[in-house]
Amino acid sequence: MSQTILLSPPDVGPLEESYLIEALRSGWVAPAGPALQAFEREVAARVGTDGAVAVSSGTAALHLALLGVGVGPGDVVIVPTLTFIATANAVRYIGARPVFVDCDPQTGNVDVHLVADLLKRLRSRGERVGAVVPVDMFGSCADYTELAPLCAEAGVPLVEDAAEALGASHRGRPAGSFGRVGALSFNGNKIMTTSGGGMLVSDDGELLARARHLATQAREPMLHYEHREIGYNYRLSNLLAALGRAQLIRLDGMITRRRHLRDRYAKLFAPVPGVRLLGVEDTESNCWLSVIVVEEQRSGWRAADLADYLAQRGIETRPVWKPMHLQPVHAGAESLLTGTAERLFAEGLTLPSGSALTESQVTTVLATIDEFLVGGGSAA
Ligand SMILES: *Cc1c(COP(=O)(O)O)cnc(C)c1O
Repeated sequence: MSQTILLSPPDVGPLEESYLIEALRSGWVAPAGPALQAFEREVAARVGTDGAVAVSSGTAALHLALLGVGVGPGDVVIVPTLTFIATANAVRYIGARPVFVDCDPQTGNVDVHLVADLLKRLRSRGERVGAVVPVDMFGSCADYTELAPLCAEAGVPLVEDAAEALGASHRGRPAGSFGRVGALSFNGNKIMTTSGGGMLVSDDGELLARARHLATQAREPMLHYEHREIGYNYRLSNLLAALGRAQLIRLDGMITRRRHLRDRYAKLFAPVPGVRLLGVEDTESNCWLSVIVVEEQRSGWRAADLADYLAQRGIETRPVWKPMHLQPVHAGAESLLTGTAERLFAEGLTLPSGSALTESQVTTVLATIDEFLVGGGSAA
């Protein structure tokens, strides 16, 4: 029995090993050190922001980003319903209330018209809107050409959840740089990894300094341990930052591999009626995950049928994120819906997309999908 072909496994090798060992031997095993500072500098340069603060996860980055733009208890925060739970949970950590909005069917990114509509409604009700948090879905930037002026006009800070999108861009400008502050993730399944980690990126030096303070248990700069407010232990370790530096060097190569894979999926599915690739028109995507959307009326089979067929043959796939308004834990939240996110949840399937997939694994995946299609889409 051969090994399972995974959706998006970490892509690490000799370069990561050498960076990690070098950091270990340097003695900087604490969550501070030269690799951490260098990693922050290098990611900020890549994203095009003045600075960055490395933290222990993308979720921690989102939490501190929301605090950084002044979101407080009772505030409303506009969040896409189609996202990973972290975006909504970070809002709840603060005691603020997420309001969920539906997405665009072509990209899966937040529907700008709904955001505009919602901003109007909330303000006419006298609600304080603490932030709008667009998510760069599956590595494709949200429509910042529309969103940025919309938020600016409404006087509401934009916080970019770029957890999935490092290396992507929108009209030439890098993902992560669009809001007052952006949040990145280096979780194990993301485009690049520190095994677990995240980062805030911003031009706002004060916001970043405050985030750094809060990430260090809000410890005052004194010899003894002095704390005037509640902070968090959110720092990234120097060892993991070293791993991240090696990954960053390889980022463009890893994106190229993922894009190549997406192109092959596009070619495979092009003649298949009722199947499309989500966001395939976006040439600036980092191609983190390739997602097909299957319209059963036209294809004659469901995304779940293909998922079963592949699972039986040791190939991992996943449904698209289950929308936040359907999550029991966020069930009480208000939402503005069109049904698109629910449809993408029912009809979408993320396919193996990792840059570490070998050529023989890719060939196996494509051949197995082809076999399924030739068989007329039956899950046998
Ligand atoms: C992965 C992810 C996060 C959270 O990142 P972690 O590092 O896993 O905490 C946040 N938002 C989105 C959209 C993500 O995909």
